[in-house]
Amino acid sequence: MPAVPRFCPQCSAALQQGRPDGDTHERLMCGACGYIHYINPKIIAGCIIERDGKYLLCQRGIPPRPGTWTLPAGFMEAGETTEQAALREVWEETGVRGDIVSPYSIFSVPRISEVYIIFRAVAVEITGQWGPETMDCRFFAPDEIPWDAIYYPAIRQILERYIEERQAGVYGIYMGNDDSGKVHFMR
Ligand SMILES: [Zn+2]
Repeated sequence: MPAVPRFCPQCSAALQQGRPDGDTHERLMCGACGYIHYINPKIIAGCIIERDGKYLLCQRGIPPRPGTWTLPAGFMEAGETTEQAALREVWEETGVRGDIVSPYSIFSVPRISEVYIIFRAVAVEITGQWGPETMDCRFFAPDEIPWDAIYYPAIRQILERYIEERQAGVYGIYMGNDDSGKVHFMR
């Protein structure tokens, strides 16, 4: 969860919990200058990139859970679109330049206030060089994927679904949340 400030960033008075007029939520507020501290979720954008029936995964070099394998994804920066964020993360974590094909999965983790947006993408350039947050990076055939070392259950579920769908050649769009642990089809 984001750090909670104790003092107003505008006037340095102590912040207090309260409900602003007309608001639906309790917030930290400044009684002196009227500042309201909003806490909004972070967006994590990433991609499933397939090439010749193999899937691009990177091995995390940093906490949490270093050594596990995951889809290239990371926190969106201010000023980016979600597509730009996803492709930048792919570039930084795998050295692959990609193109977005379509949205694929939207997954909320309300207990830590995060939202994952995963796109389908294709690789247009593979440099074989990646940044320091990645230990290793490979395209895996489905039977080579280290399924028991995937970073997060929802990532495993999204990838399993994608591989099933590739065989049929028809891709859905999915949403879900961490409370149910399920990603489901969106109609
Ligand atoms: Zn203030």
